[in-house]
Amino acid sequence: MGHIAEKIQYYRSALPEGVELVAVSKFHPVESLLEAYDAGQRVFGESRVQELVAKIPQLPDDINWHFIGHLQTNKVRQIIGCVALIESVDSERLLGVIDDLSAKAGVVTRVLMQLHVAAEETKFGFAPDELLEFFRSRRFESLRATHICGVMGMASNTDDTERVRADFKLIFDTFSSIRGDDALGLRGFDVVSMGMSGDYPIAIECGSTHVRIGTDIFGIREY
Ligand SMILES: *Cc1c(COP(=O)(O)O)cnc(C)c1O
Repeated sequence: MGHIAEKIQYYRSALPEGVELVAVSKFHPVESLLEAYDAGQRVFGESRVQELVAKIPQLPDDINWHFIGHLQTNKVRQIIGCVALIESVDSERLLGVIDDLSAKAGVVTRVLMQLHVAAEETKFGFAPDELLEFFRSRRFESLRATHICGVMGMASNTDDTERVRADFKLIFDTFSSIRGDDALGLRGFDVVSMGMSGDYPIAIECGSTHVRIGTDIFGIREY
């Protein structure tokens, strides 16, 4: 068995029930994705539109593609109807464009709202307060063709595990406040996507439902 297949099997047995593996295949060739597919993996994460739309026709059509990168509004059209989940909605403007184009295409697009809690300044996403305000103001009610399924976030890129844990806790607590607010009447708001190769065990301890693992499955990316 190849290394990739072994890793897929490992995660299948190691991840607790209720935690889904998103195999992050960005920058890796179709052959690597096929090895994971043949080992039973069906959920793949990609972060660039061009790469995603090039890969989709080369792979089986029962794959659930998750878009996990920064999405420019002028590229949304290319992925509407092709992806199972856009994990990285980082602005209301982007959300509005996704909704308009989904309505026009006659599809419902499932999305996660990206939270920014990490120490890095350049990361995209909503601050926890901003996201709470977005929901409490009920602006989500104007969406016609978008289903907000939960949140996605990243912890600080640091060896300080207490900082990483605090970041994941903040993501989970923000999710919980929104989900637990009965007045919002949200349905199907149950995804907390957090945890990558270097920190997923901590993310799972903090309540993650989706871990996004790239390097540990496919190896180092060559950019
Ligand atoms: C690349 C990427 C990952 C995977 O990171 P690894 O460290 O390779 O596991 C997870 N989430 C996002 C948003 C990414 O861009």
